[in-house]
Amino acid sequence: MTDTVFAQIVRGEIPTDLMYQDELVTAFRDIQPQAPTHILVVPNKPVPTLADVTDADEAALGRMIRVAARLAEEEGIDEAGYRLILNCRAHAGQEVYHLHLHLLGGRPLGRMLSESEEPPAPSDHLARVIPPHNLPRFPLPQPSRDA
Ligand code: AMP
Repeated sequence: MTDTVFAQIVRGEIPTDLMYQDELVTAFRDIQPQAPTHILVVPNKPVPTLADVTDADEAALGRMIRVAARLAEEEGIDEAGYRLILNCRAHAGQEVYHLHLHLLGGRPLGRMLSESEEPPAPSDHLARVIPPHNLPRFPLPQPSRDA
């Protein structure tokens, strides 16, 4: 996998406005903020996209969401509300291929999606018309009885 700017930030090799770091995740301000608060939360391990996540990454993904919520509190935007965005690959406009969660807030954020430039692909239509009882299942780890 090629090295990315976010991997360099995690390793402390390039300057950033660091907000938080622990053994699993790192959070820093986006260099081109789209809202008064725009923070990126990344796993320290360089997973390229959400589609590359494995069971071994679940702790880091959970931590990313919890850290985002805590940072929203610290930024004073939790009561008004905020948005988390995780872009996966080309159609979502992913630019940096090191998984990252955007925490955006500090102003009304408007509609969830901008207008797409092209009509949705046939597979997108299909996903919307599959009734819930026909949704494909995929194996998830069983909860531990010891927990
Ligand atoms: P995405 O389109 O989801 O891949 O988002 C990538 C984000 O990374 C964009 O919002 C960029 O502004 C941001 N970004 C790129 N380089 C840096 C950097 N060196 N420090 C902070 N944010 C960055």
